[in-house]
Amino acid sequence: MNKKILVIPGDGIGQEVTTWGKKVLEQIAKKYNHTFSFDEAIMGHTAIEATGNPLPDETLAKAKATDAILFGAIGHIKYDNDPSAKVRPEQGLLKIRKELGLYANLRPIKLFDELLGASSIKPQILKGADILFFRELTGDVYFGEKKRSEDRNTASDLMIYSRYEVERIAEKAFKAAQTRSKKLCSVDKANVLESSRLWREVVQDVAKKYPDVQTEHMFIDNAAMQLIKDPKKFDVVLTANLFGDILTDEASQIAGSMGMLASASIGDSVGFYEPIHGSAHDIAGKGIANPLASILSVALLLDISFGLKTESNAVITSVEKTLKQGYRCKDIADSTTPIDKICTTSQMGEIVISNL
Ligand code: NAD
Repeated sequence: MNKKILVIPGDGIGQEVTTWGKKVLEQIAKKYNHTFSFDEAIMGHTAIEATGNPLPDETLAKAKATDAILFGAIGHIKYDNDPSAKVRPEQGLLKIRKELGLYANLRPIKLFDELLGASSIKPQILKGADILFFRELTGDVYFGEKKRSEDRNTASDLMIYSRYEVERIAEKAFKAAQTRSKKLCSVDKANVLESSRLWREVVQDVAKKYPDVQTEHMFIDNAAMQLIKDPKKFDVVLTANLFGDILTDEASQIAGSMGMLASASIGDSVGFYEPIHGSAHDIAGKGIANPLASILSVALLLDISFGLKTESNAVITSVEKTLKQGYRCKDIADSTTPIDKICTTSQMGEIVISNL
């Protein structure tokens, strides 16, 4: 298979982990006789420094002309501490999602048995948890009108959804539920928010087309609690942009760490694959970031964008084998991990590749 892959490392640990995602793709190409040609582009703080623009036109043009995108993360501490900054790294990410029509963000949350001890949740509650989140990605308060009063003392963000935006992601989530355990939980705040009442109405309508799927509606506050109390009760979870952002970070604790969770953003055109974590200023440059979320994002890329199921499974199996051998980055190590099994980013990447 001949495919073009655009790599956008971004900022901070985004650059460190994406190096390993790309190396895994190169190894897969070698092992299975594919030709993957790589190009690279800048985004986020790195792009602001170089061009003044968090998403340069050249990056967007390359993104529109490729077969799949492997992304790292964006963000820099200087913007986190300066809410008044007009040009910000995250504007690049929001714009590329909108421009590429990436309206569905898939976040599989699956705990490798070897990491049962890495979570702060009790193993008996976690074992067997397997959730697929569908987070809407191009609507909600992220894209609604933002306002600040003239005296700067009042601010608002418009939470806005249209029927078609809910319909198209609901269709994708119901189809996925049919291939899994035929259970779907839609999360909203319909007791308070009008946009959530529309969300629920549309999901109820779409559900009629999928009578084989058992549909449940849950308020976000209850879902946040149930996720920790009994994660096994969830299978496919469908939710809006803001609720999904928060719930999936919470759910990362089910998988042991943010460093383990991959995601796929899909929509009308090219697929965009990235870890769910950010640029992690606290560990950037130290060589200790866990590259497994980026490597598992590669598994999603191979499966969803290229239909290469065997190759995708080979990546997941090599991660599993690495964990079985006892290797851990710091974020997933615990008091029982022998010191010689604690890996840097590069050591972890090398071992996964040798297991491939
Ligand atoms: P973060 O995800 O960067 O980090 C949260 C915590 O998880 C930190 O303690 C970090 O050290 C740890 N962590 C994250 N990924 C890890 C990995 N691979 N290995 C080991 N530990 C890991 O979130 P944050 O600290 O809230 O944000 C930092 C910056 O990232 C901010 O500028 C924010 O805007 C940006 N951000 C970007 C994205 C994105 O690019 N998609 C997502 C979230 C946050």
